[in-house]
Amino acid sequence: LVRVRFAPSPTGLLHLGSIRTALYNYLFAKSCGGKFILRIEDTDQSRIVHGAMEQLEEDLEWIGLKPDEGPTHGGPYGPYIQSQRLDTYKDVANELIDRKAAYMCFCTEYRLDLLRRDALRRRQVPRYDNRCRYLDPDEAKKRSQDGEKYCIRFKMDGMEKVTFSDIIYGTINFGASEEGDPVILKADGFPTYHLANIVDDHNMRISHVLRGVEWQVSTPKHILLYRALGWDPPFYAHLPLILNADGSKLSKRQGDIQVGYYRDNGIFPAALLNYVTDAGGGFPNRDRNVSLTLEDLISHFDISRVGSNSCRLQPDRLPEFNRRELKRLLQSEASTQQLVQKIQDMVKKKFSVSDGSSQLDLHEEHIRRILLWGSDRIHCLQDLVSPDFAFLWVRPLSEHKSEDKGLIEKLSAELMDLPSERFRKDVLRSILKEFSEKNGVTFGQFMKLIRHTISGLKDGPGVAEMLELLVSIHDYTFKSGDEA
Ligand code: GLU
Repeated sequence: LVRVRFAPSPTGLLHLGSIRTALYNYLFAKSCGGKFILRIEDTDQSRIVHGAMEQLEEDLEWIGLKPDEGPTHGGPYGPYIQSQRLDTYKDVANELIDRKAAYMCFCTEYRLDLLRRDALRRRQVPRYDNRCRYLDPDEAKKRSQDGEKYCIRFKMDGMEKVTFSDIIYGTINFGASEEGDPVILKADGFPTYHLANIVDDHNMRISHVLRGVEWQVSTPKHILLYRALGWDPPFYAHLPLILNADGSKLSKRQGDIQVGYYRDNGIFPAALLNYVTDAGGGFPNRDRNVSLTLEDLISHFDISRVGSNSCRLQPDRLPEFNRRELKRLLQSEASTQQLVQKIQDMVKKKFSVSDGSSQLDLHEEHIRRILLWGSDRIHCLQDLVSPDFAFLWVRPLSEHKSEDKGLIEKLSAELMDLPSERFRKDVLRSILKEFSEKNGVTFGQFMKLIRHTISGLKDGPGVAEMLELLVSIHDYTFKSGDEA
């Protein structure tokens, strides 16, 4: 059975890089009938951000990647939060000592610091000199029993002999390590990433590890740990870096890479999934002009088609993905209803005047009509309350010269007599044309005036089209702005 995990550290918010990792794990699991597990790797307590775990779970839920097992959903191999599994790691670390693959290290922070400084002075990479590896085990035991502080280090031998097959990168061989023996259990009883990671992958029956390529250098170390414990390692697939369009690295400081940013800016989850997978690859013969739903992504995903070259996001494609998703949502009654609700809230928030003097028309039927009309013109719901579309909700305040006012009143009287079924843009267009000829104003000038009167805009949708829409949605009468 395929079992994969997404194992974020609660040190920040879910961003495009981590969404990609979560998503590809999810797609791989679901395309093989497997399970997707969420595990929180919070062993580095100093880096934990308060509330980050809850936010990660909420963000995952929002994009639709529901874990089969995890902190909130539970499961047979819990708890799924590493800080709640400390005894397990301690047991395994002790087992490694028993197997002579690990040892207690009593070196003080002071000594380690001297080693570090010494190395730096000699322009060398600091490394632990493995001194405690050679302590007599009985003596070490006694010192620990006497209450001396210690950590546990793994004897890292044979890195040069580790070769593994990466599903995406092929055969990997890193050569000998320059590192000293790594700490696997800290003096405070917390494991380090390497130990906790492999213990959990093993105990949680993880079959495949899909993670960012930045973790690939850790894999030989992990394989050595598996060997030392007599466990079989999982299969590995490292996912290439995901970069900005200009090839720069995504950085947490970039505002526009976090899930919350997209959510707040009206991007639909499916659009984000298309955006990320469009860059990340793994979908043979994908038609880039078609958006895929999460179900489509699952059925088309083929991990053997994920390339090893780093991939670049194409931000200019995101609005189009979002528009397509908007159109898709409008095909379903239930989601249309949700969209209407959202728009009602947005419009209220944006245009309500606190004294209640402005009566907003938030009639559901009207909003539906606006949505259908707008779905070709907007990329996200927020666009509908932007200045370009404010005329849909509130009348612009416009001052007119007296001769313009006269024209508007005259046209208004004419339109008043027009039966509502004739309020169509083609009919309106010819009425406007005739009217301008009859009244000796150039058509272009006249359109400008009308556009300004009904929308306050200099350009935008066709005048006849706007009129048709306004009359169809509101109790709208065409009048000069300042009398309205
Ligand atoms: N906790 C690691 C991270 O934050 C997980 C790496 C892995 O998947 O092994 O990305």
